[in-house]
Amino acid sequence: MSRQLESKKFIPKNELTLYTTCEPCPMCTVTIVLSLIKKVVWATNDKDIGAFKKFKELNSELLIYNELFRDIEFNASPYRDLELRQRKMLAEWNNSRGTSITIGMMN
Ligand SMILES: [Zn+2]
Repeated sequence: MSRQLESKKFIPKNELTLYTTCEPCPMCTVTIVLSLIKKVVWATNDKDIGAFKKFKELNSELLIYNELFRDIEFNASPYRDLELRQRKMLAEWNNSRGTSITIGMMN
């Protein structure tokens, strides 16, 4: 990598917000943490596969783990109408591919 390229700041640190339809799974959650994303907003909670909230609220004995999650905010299912629309779209998509898997509701 050239010196000129190294000195460029392409993405301001800690100013990114990720919007997603469902709560991120474990793999996506780790990727989000390592990507220096500051905030995550999702339309629909997922008590089965969703991991972000569980991971963030876990008080680990590993200091580095807690530090990685400390500065990341999340906003879970802020709009009831969007959550209902997301669940409906997912059910339709699952039906179209012959499965009835739905994401679990979380209170
Ligand atoms: Zn994922």
